[in-house]
Amino acid sequence: MKTVFSGIQPTGELHVGNYIGAIHNWVKMQDQYRCIYCVVDYHAITQDYPVKEMKSRVHDMALDILALGVDPDRAILFVQSAVPEHTELAWVLSAVTGHGDLERMTQFKDKSVNQSENINAGLFSYPVLQAADILLYKAELVPVGADQVQHLELARRIGRSFNNRWGKVFPECEPKLTETPKVLGLDGKQKMSKSLGNHIPLSAIEDKPLRKLLGRMVTDEKRVTREDPGDPDVCNVFSFHKIFSTDDDRAWVREGCTTAGIGCVDCKGRLVGRMIEHFADYRERRAALVANPARVDEILAAGADKARAIAQRTMAEVRQKLGLWRSP
Ligand code: SF4
Repeated sequence: MKTVFSGIQPTGELHVGNYIGAIHNWVKMQDQYRCIYCVVDYHAITQDYPVKEMKSRVHDMALDILALGVDPDRAILFVQSAVPEHTELAWVLSAVTGHGDLERMTQFKDKSVNQSENINAGLFSYPVLQAADILLYKAELVPVGADQVQHLELARRIGRSFNNRWGKVFPECEPKLTETPKVLGLDGKQKMSKSLGNHIPLSAIEDKPLRKLLGRMVTDEKRVTREDPGDPDVCNVFSFHKIFSTDDDRAWVREGCTTAGIGCVDCKGRLVGRMIEHFADYRERRAALVANPARVDEILAAGADKARAIAQRTMAEVRQKLGLWRSP
């Protein structure tokens, strides 16, 4: 069975965009691969964050991941900082990473613009820690969206450079491209994001709060009154119907929208029902975990033990190849 590694930053409760873009795939992959999933808190410190909230953000995110169906009996789920070998390997790998390679990373350039008051070295060497996350577990597959392909390509180069300089330890990791629909936020313009405030938290998928949130969702802007026909192909509400609703629902929307036979309130009401159905199991599992928060911590601790055992074996090999004093 091939090993898959994937990480997610601790932003607290998950939203619909996180689910569609990442966790939905995590759940599917755990039946086909040996999956190692990580909440990457060391990555998160390269940006400003509320220190007092970090622990609860990690906990809430892990809770949501488990409630969505990641099964600790079939996948390893843990927190990055519980396995210090991540940062140890990152230091080793930094010795075979070209400065120019890091300078070329578009994400570094973007972040340097977005947080120009805090361009730190961690932000610059972030891809080296990402390479360490993957290589520590000798992962062969890494699920990536198009925006992460460049980082994975660098991780592959770093692994090769290590093997060439010190001897083979790491396999080639391959990208597993995720073909997920782009999920826009309530504004219908930008990618769904908690920081932009255009998100639908999974915890809000209950009748009343969801109706309220979807009430804010931008529709076909040319459909000004109930009597105007609309175009579902330019409407973000219809994009959500494509994900959560049935073929019959979509045919009903297309016919009703283009002939002004239904209003946007009807259309959104149907979507609310479908989303509530889709997340029924999640809500049940979430309620059980909220009632027993110690269970989440237990799962993370057990996951960290399993991850650490693998990481320690890899680091023993790495130290031996490097000829370090602590070599076995
Ligand atoms: Fe969008 Fe539905 Fe309104 Fe058509 S009826 S504009 S698809 S919300």
